[in-house]
Order: sequence, then structure tokens, then C-alpha cells
Amino acid sequence: MAAKNVTWQFHIKGVVQGVGFRPFVYKAAKELNLRGWVRNSSAGVDIVASGEEQCLIDLLARLKSNPPPLAKIDHIEQSQIDFLDFSDFEIKESKVIPGEFIPISPDIAICKDCKEELFDPQDHRYRYPFINCTNCGPRLTIIQDIPYDRPKTTMSHFPMCDFCKNEYDEPANRRFHAQPVACEDCGPQIWFQDLSGEKTLHEEGLQKAREFLKQGKIIAVKGLGGFHLACDASNPSAVENLRNRKKRSQKPFAVMAFSIQILEKYCDIKAPEKELILSKEKPIVIVNQNENNNLPEHVAPGRHTIGVMLPYTPLHLLLLEPEQDFPDLFIMTSGNISEEPITYSNIDSFDRLGDIADGFLLHDREIYLRVDDSVAATSVDEKPYLFRRARGYAPQALTLPMGSHMDLAVGAELKNTFCLAKRDYAFMSHHIGDLKNYETFQAFIQGIGHYSRLFNIHPQRVVCDLHPEYLSTKYAAEYANQNKIPLIQVQHHHAHLASCLADNQFFKDEPVIGIIFDGTGYGTDGNIWGGEVLLGNTRNYERVFHLEEMPLPGGDLAVMNPNRIAIAYLLKLGLPLDNRLSVINKTDQSEISLIKKQIAANINTPVNSSMGRLFDAVASLIGVRQNISYEAQAAIELEQCIQKNIKDTYHLQLDNSIIQLKSLFEEILEDIFKDTPQKIIAAKFHNSIVDLVLQLAKNISKQRGVKRVALSGGVWQNLYLLRKTIPLLRANGFSVFFHQQVPANDGGISLGQTAIIRSMNTKAR
Ligand SMILES: [Zn+2]
Ligand SMILES: [Zn+2]
Repeated sequence: MAAKNVTWQFHIKGVVQGVGFRPFVYKAAKELNLRGWVRNSSAGVDIVASGEEQCLIDLLARLKSNPPPLAKIDHIEQSQIDFLDFSDFEIKESKVIPGEFIPISPDIAICKDCKEELFDPQDHRYRYPFINCTNCGPRLTIIQDIPYDRPKTTMSHFPMCDFCKNEYDEPANRRFHAQPVACEDCGPQIWFQDLSGEKTLHEEGLQKAREFLKQGKIIAVKGLGGFHLACDASNPSAVENLRNRKKRSQKPFAVMAFSIQILEKYCDIKAPEKELILSKEKPIVIVNQNENNNLPEHVAPGRHTIGVMLPYTPLHLLLLEPEQDFPDLFIMTSGNISEEPITYSNIDSFDRLGDIADGFLLHDREIYLRVDDSVAATSVDEKPYLFRRARGYAPQALTLPMGSHMDLAVGAELKNTFCLAKRDYAFMSHHIGDLKNYETFQAFIQGIGHYSRLFNIHPQRVVCDLHPEYLSTKYAAEYANQNKIPLIQVQHHHAHLASCLADNQFFKDEPVIGIIFDGTGYGTDGNIWGGEVLLGNTRNYERVFHLEEMPLPGGDLAVMNPNRIAIAYLLKLGLPLDNRLSVINKTDQSEISLIKKQIAANINTPVNSSMGRLFDAVASLIGVRQNISYEAQAAIELEQCIQKNIKDTYHLQLDNSIIQLKSLFEEILEDIFKDTPQKIIAAKFHNSIVDLVLQLAKNISKQRGVKRVALSGGVWQNLYLLRKTIPLLRANGFSVFFHQQVPANDGGISLGQTAIIRSMNTKAR
């Protein structure tokens, strides 16, 4: 019985270009005996196919259930049209539709197939440091403009040889239309350069770089989105040199090893963490160190955790390949001095890293866009939890409710990201960094221009923080003024709440209890907020509880010196400055009397309700840290010193809308005077914050009948807190939203701002 032939057309949207989608369709169509064509358009991928109806149904099923690994399909529309008679199935030329856009794939770690070829002596690309295919390799970092085709990437200087061209043109090949495809004969090359300027090319250069690592020297390595500084992680003097030269006094370094087996020698890696380390995104993953791993203290001072990652480019694999008497674990830290942005051009690397590195492993594939390594951990339910969203994740689009405007959200000032939105897509940028740094601010401005072009977005509204002094706020005001578009300001912690809700695709009008524990954010009363309990959604909010307002003598000076905070809090709460307290012993008397005077006269002493500052105060009080060298250091070290099996807590009282701190401090002082060990006090303090969250949720739920809780703000980077709070809330009948795709810290603010402006829009019309 001959089945009737029909014709279907398909429109597919999502990340479907540069990811091997057309070859996949071509192969499937051939196997299913379909005829017609597939092509890229500036709106996605179009297919027209004729054949037996069952075969078309099968094609649709394959598109849905088994697309290429890097593809992310957002919509498939299919319909039957009048029958068209084709003789074959072909891949047609791309079609440009004005005003349309398609999402772009992030940079993806080298795939299994390419890795096998890299180490296969029979392969054409044996030991070629830039091997890639449609399933892996650079994307975002090399794209200069759209449409994403080789001439619009930094690969345009490398005309393909016949070998590569044949693969590039062959629909059945896994390098079909892989824009960065190249080989030793036609593609980018590496070389090693020492401080005298002497160059060693190709494989010999690679071996020289390895020799330097073996000798305990520091090398700068040009990677995918920027430079790394690398050295042997088990060599104490190499690590110490790096720390001194990089002027990075205490911030931990990330490490890289050739394989997961090597990482497991040094770290205790749980199954979901392993999955994340091995994922195609290959972020830096925070895991526990093995107790006796003998790593030098300078790798991650004061930490029992460490950030680990696997090689994500062929170059990194070749550089770290195991060999007899060759080190097996390497520091792989961003190529910058302290807080500057990561270096990404060859010329720049000599200027900026010349005083740090003993040699340079370079190549001639230009990095167009600087993108840092992502940093992640796992939270609960085996889910990834991002601290820094960059390589491997950005610019993957997030989904929003459909909107009629194009929007720009400029984010916060520290850990900045921005976000551009069009229709139901939100393109949140990669991590930009601290805008107070001049170069970072330039990268922010250029980044907005670049993303606007790539995604064809011309903002009709711009949204920023309430903080008048944020550089992002000032930029937004100017942008709105120049482009004559409305400027909308949203409160920082409302943006955190909205970010968490958007991250969880919750856009309903119902209120959610937002437990927003953060460092610093500008409040609607002009004070510093940060220990905020909001009841709201992406549309609006009310502030139902907040931490008791406390003095911050010296403002930013207090943030850098937690001892000032501890003393101020004790004074404000009327508690004794007893000389049995380590904070008093470590702060000289003249400073103490200065702080007293400053508070009494209210000189440069803003009030704050920040949860981050409460952690600082406690860290100082029990002698963990009195001065910090990087953001949140005191709070992080307080978390690190927790003794795990402690169940006891302190108590915090709720009084109307205020979370009172006096009983907490009284009980901590009592423990200090009883010589209770630091690690037990740290555990009890954390437990009391966990209990506080439950107490708040129950209180609000009783009055308002709300059973949903959202956890956001920088303090939720504290994994002890997060991993204890979520199960406790769930055990008490609450459903809990926590971050998965964007960070809980200020890196997620731009998404929250976008979600808020979107909700305002739907309400107004
Ligand atoms: Zn590959
Ligand atoms: Zn070639």
C-alpha cells in the first residue's frame, strides 16, 4: 500500500546556528527518505520537506527528542502546505530577514570526538591546538558581527585549506559549516616567547612552555576568552611567587588538571559536582579539598574548599598532558593584576603580565570579546549554582514572558552584568566585573554595543538601580537622555527577588516571600539595605521585615575593616567592650575611641540593615578576621571555619518589622567568655540564620497565607546556609525558589531589572 506524500514546513527558533543543526536535519531527512531543503535564516532555521506523513512525524520527533548537543530549541512551528515535488534534500543558502535575530551559542569545551582526534597520531589534526567541530570550540569570543559566518569572526584571516574546506562543505561531516574549523596547514598557530623576546614555534614552543611549568616558573597562557597565569600548584615557591607578583594577597587560586582522576587525588568530589566539572560548559567548580592533599597554603589560604576545572581547549589539554616527572595539578588563574579585567590580546599581555610571567604561550587567533571562566558549585537537588556566569553559559538566552518592548538593563556596579531583552528572550551578558575599574567600565560600554548588534536589539527603555552613585546608573541616565527613551529605576533587593523568580520562571501575580540577604544595596529611604524580607513578585513588593538598623562608622572604611563594624554594633546594642574580646585586643585604643566619637557625633556613619555586615561583625568578634583584602572575605572565612556536626543555635527576636540583634550578640558574647571554640560559635551563628529564615517564613505565612519562599542576594553564596535552609523550609511545607541559571549575587541583578520592567509593561497595558 503506497502512502500519500505530503509537504510540511518547519520554523525552528533557539540556538540552532553554528551548532551542527543543518547537517543533523540533512542526515535525518535522508534517512527518512524526505525531499526538500533546510536553511538558516536570521530568525532561526527553516525546513520544507516532502515525503510520507509518518516520516515527517518522525522528523519532528527527532528534532524534539534528539537535537545536536549544543542546540537549544525554544520553539518549533510546523504546518502542512500544498504538496511540493522535490528530487532531493539539500542545504540552501542562508536567508537574511531584516530586524530578526537568533541566539548565539556560548564557547563550548572541546568535545570527546575532537579530543580523540587530538591524540590520534593517524589523524590529520593530531596535536593541533585549535581542533574543533560543530559541537565544540569558540563562538561568542570570536564573533565580530552577524550573521555568524566565518568572515564575521576573528577566523576571517585564515583561509581554509582544501582538506578543511571539504569537511566544511560536506553536509554529512561533523565540521560542516563549523566556522572556526582549521588545521595545522591553514589555521592559527602557537608559539612560546620568553622574557628576552625569543620565540619558539609550534610543538617545540609547547614543549618549552611545559619545561617552564616543570621548572616551577610562571607562564601566561592565551586561552579562549583571555589569558591565564599558570604554574605548578604543588610547588610552594612557584605559588608564592605568583601570589606576590599578582598582588593577590589572599584570594584563592583555581586549579586545573588533565583529568578528573587527577582532581580526585586532591579533592573530595561528589557525584553531582563531578557531573558539573565534566559538563560541556566546564566551569570552575568549588569542591572540598582532601584533608591531606599537601597543597601549599598559598593556593587557597584559609580554605578547605578549592575551585577546580578541566582543560576546555585543545591547547590546555596539550599543555597539561601527563608525563613522567611532570607536575599534575596547575594553578590556572585569570591573567590580570588583582582586580583588573583579564588580559586578552598578545600586545597587552606583555605590558600587563610582563612583571608576573616568566614566559608566554601565545597564538594568533584574536580574542574579540574577553570572557572569564565561570565559577559554580552545586546547591541541592544536584543542581548547578553559579557564582560567576561567563564562559560556557553566556550568552545563552533566558526566557521571559512575551513583551512588546526592547529593553536594556544595566545591572549593579560590582560583579556587573547587563541584560538586553526582546520578545520572550533575555540575553544576560557574561560577567563584566567591577565598573569602578576604568577598563572594566569600557568593557561594559563596548559589551552593550556588541550585544545590541549581535541580537539586533535597539532598546526602547532602560532600567537601572536606585543607587545614584553606581556608574551603571549614571550610564543609564545618559543613555536614556541621548536616545530619548524612558529611564526606570528599581530597588536593588527587589531586583534580587525578581532575578530569583525569573531564574525559576515564576511570573505569576501572587506574592512570594523574598529572603534577600545581601551585602549592600540602596534603599528607598536612602539607607543601606541588605537584610531584607520582601513580600512581592516581579511587579511590586513590600518590605515586611529587615535587620535592625546599625551604624557603619566610616562607611566603606568599615566594610574593609570588620573590626569597626563589630565595635560599632556592640556600642549600639549597649554591650560591653570587654578586653577578653579578640576584636578589642586587635584594635588599638585610639581607633576605638575614634569609632565611639564618630558614632556619637554621627560623622560619616550611615545606618545599614545589611546581612553581609552582620556576618562581618560576627567574624571580627570571634577573631576570624579584622581587615579584608577582597569582597566578603570575612564572611567567607567565617563559613570556612564551621564545625559541621553542631546543631545548637542563638536566637533572634522579631519585633514588628524589625529583626532584633541584641539577644544574638549577648549569646555570642556569653560563648566567647566561656571559651567556646571559634568553629562552634561560627556553626551556631550560621544555624541561627537558618532558623531565622524559617521563623520569618512561618510568621509571614501565618499572617498572609503565602507558602512560597525565594532566596537571593550575595549572602546566599554561602553554601552551608543554602544547603541547610532549603530542606528545612521544605520540611515545613514551603516551596523554595533558589538560583540555578544566574548568580544569587549582584551578577543576577540585570535579569531581575529586566523581569521587573517587563511586568510593569504588561500591567500598564
Ligand atoms: Zn569537537
Ligand atoms: Zn586546514
